[in-house]
Formats: sequence, C-alpha cells, structure tokens
Amino acid sequence: MAQVENLNIVPFVSVDNMMKLVLHVGIDTFLRELAVTIKEDFLRWEQFDKTARIASHSKDGVIELMPTSDGTLYGFKYVNGHPKNTREGRQTVTAFGVLSDVGNGYPMLLSEMTILTALRTAATSALAAKYLARSNARTMAIIGNGAQSEFQARAFKAILGVDHLRLYDIDRSASLKCLRNLDGQGFSIEICDTAQDAVEGADIITTVTADKQYATICTDNMVGPGVHLNAVGGDCPGKTELHRDILLRSDIFVEYPPQTRVEGEIQQLEKDHPVTELWEVIAGRASGRTSDRQITLFDSVGFAIEDFSALRYVRSKLATTGLYDQLDLLADPDEPRDLFGMLLRCEALQAI
Ligand code: NAD
Repeated sequence: MAQVENLNIVPFVSVDNMMKLVLHVGIDTFLRELAVTIKEDFLRWEQFDKTARIASHSKDGVIELMPTSDGTLYGFKYVNGHPKNTREGRQTVTAFGVLSDVGNGYPMLLSEMTILTALRTAATSALAAKYLARSNARTMAIIGNGAQSEFQARAFKAILGVDHLRLYDIDRSASLKCLRNLDGQGFSIEICDTAQDAVEGADIITTVTADKQYATICTDNMVGPGVHLNAVGGDCPGKTELHRDILLRSDIFVEYPPQTRVEGEIQQLEKDHPVTELWEVIAGRASGRTSDRQITLFDSVGFAIEDFSALRYVRSKLATTGLYDQLDLLADPDEPRDLFGMLLRCEALQAI
C-alpha cells in the first residue's frame, strides 16, 4: 500500500472499507474516539471558517454542500435528504466528503460519508447529551427507527451508558428492524404503539424521523421536567418535529445559529429567541444543564465542523489499517505545465 502522503494519489475510503474500518476499530471505540475528535474541534471553534451549508431544495428533497476550514485543512461534505427515497429502495440520506491540504489545495482524502454521517451525528448527539442530559439518564425514547436510529442508540450507550430503549415508528417494521439490529448488545428494548407511549419514563427523547413537513412528533404534554430532547430529524426549512410550545419551555442548544435558525426546530421561533451554542458549553464558557428539572433541547441539524472532524478521524486511521484504495484523481504531468503534452503521450500510447 502506497504512503497516504503521496500527493498524486488520493486515498479513497469506499463503503466497504468504511465498514471494515468501523468494525476493525470497534463500533463503541469508533463512536467514543469520534466524539473526542469532535470535542477537540469544538474546543477550537473560533479557528474555523464557518458558513451555513449551501442547500439546493427541490420538491422531494435537498442536496447540500457543507464546507469548513481550520486554516490548515479544508473539508466539505455533499449530502442529500430525500424522505421519499426509502419507498424506492434508496437511503433518505447519502453523503461523501473530501479533506484537502489548504497549502496546495490538493485533496488528501475522499470518503464515503453515508455511514460516517450516521456515526458523526450519533457521536455529536451523545456528546451534547453528556453536557445536557441528567447524569443518571439511562432510558431513551427513539422516535423514528430508520437508518440513523441504531447509531444513536449505540452512541448513547457507549458515551452515556443509556441501556433502556423505548422505540416508536409509524412503520412497525422499522422498529422491529431496530430491535433485531440491537439484539444482544446490552439494551433492554420495548417497542411502543404511540409516540406518547414511547416517551413514558424516558430521560432522553431522540426524535429522528424523516418527513418533508412541519410534523408534530412530540406535543407539549409529552415532555416532563428534567427531560433532554435530542431533536435530530428536523434539519431543513419547513421540516420540524417538536411542537413550538416545547421549545418555549426548553433551554435550547445549537451548533451554528445562522444555520440552525433556518433549518432547526427554532425556525418556529422569533429570530432573536435566545439559544446557546454547544461549543461554548463544551469550552466551559456557557452553562449546560443547571438543574434536574430543566428541559434541555439539542436542536441538531448537523454542522460542517462535525464532518471535518469525522474526515480527520478517518484519515488518522488510514496509515495503520491500509483500509483505503488509491484513487487516480489528480493529473500529474512530469512538467506541471505540460498537461496537454500528457494527453498527447496518452494518445500516442493508445495508437501502439
Ligand atoms: P429514514 O428514512 O431511514 O428513517 C426515518 C424513519 O422515520 C422511518 O422509519 C419512518 O417510518 C419514520 N417516521 C416518519 N414519520 C414519522 C412519525 N411521524 N412518527 C414516527 N416515525 C416516523 O431516515 P434516517 O436516515 O434515519 O434520517 C432521519 C432524519 O434525520 C432525516 O430527516 C434526516 O434528514 C435527519 N438527519 C439529521 C442529521 C443531523 O445531523 N441532524 C443527520 C442525519 C440525518
């Protein structure tokens, strides 16, 4: 396997290699180490070039580009969100991403990010909950039992010790799939008939449904004192999961306010409604949970720095595992300005 440092060869992590990498590291270790990497980058939040993601909306979904840079590395993710896709045998969310050297602009890594997004979203949610949920939280309701759900469960177990799950999905087969996939992994799991039933006795409520509309997955009466809400599924303009009244009773924590005010649950609130940036809590500049009766809400939409951290983490594993392909992505004529000559030499070779 060539050195990852060879500038003309771009390491490419396929879906197959990503799965092998996650299993080689171990799912729990991967989630914990990824959370540490995200925390490291949140602690140096101010060093990053930040911009709300660039979204191209259409009738059925959205395609987004999520760029950021720390001045040394540049990263971006391409991601879609199409709730109707599962009915056609496709994923709601797929993604890939690139990490580049700011010094010369050359890509250093191209990676699948569908699995990586599920892992980074779960790691970020669990990291947030570490600061926002009650420290004795062990029971989590998961409403929406699709592609992201098991990753959320595993991250909350690995990072917080959550080991009791209450599942609800409008499609019972999704809950049964989730139950099967988490079987034997140290959880006690109940499948519930309604969302109301699922939140009964839950310390943490994760909403991770896919629907391209203002949905009301949770109404105000469902959220009691002391609960932490991990609202993951509402991540687009016109797509929310929580009733506005819940937001008015919650202390709200967000990734990057200019993006979340457009995409998150808080799109339902006034533009100046107070929110706290998660990085400030992690850095000790702002308070997280301050009482056992407080309702905390992590209004997750997914921010570029989390993807940057995930790519940085994956790249750190390549040299030792060799779990990548070498991609011939960059033209490299012997004389850098002789790009056309390289084409002519290829033509001459083909003529032989
Ligand atoms: P998915 O399509 O695989 O699963 C969604 C599940 O939600 C389905 O099983 C569906 O039956 C269920 N559902 C829909 N409406 C429901 C309702 N009213 N009550 C209960 N269940 C309902 O999608 P996924 O990949 O798991 O993603 C879920 C959501 O999370 C999407 O909206 C996606 O955009 C979002 N997401 C957010 C982030 C983030 O960083 N915040 C990251 C990844 C995905």
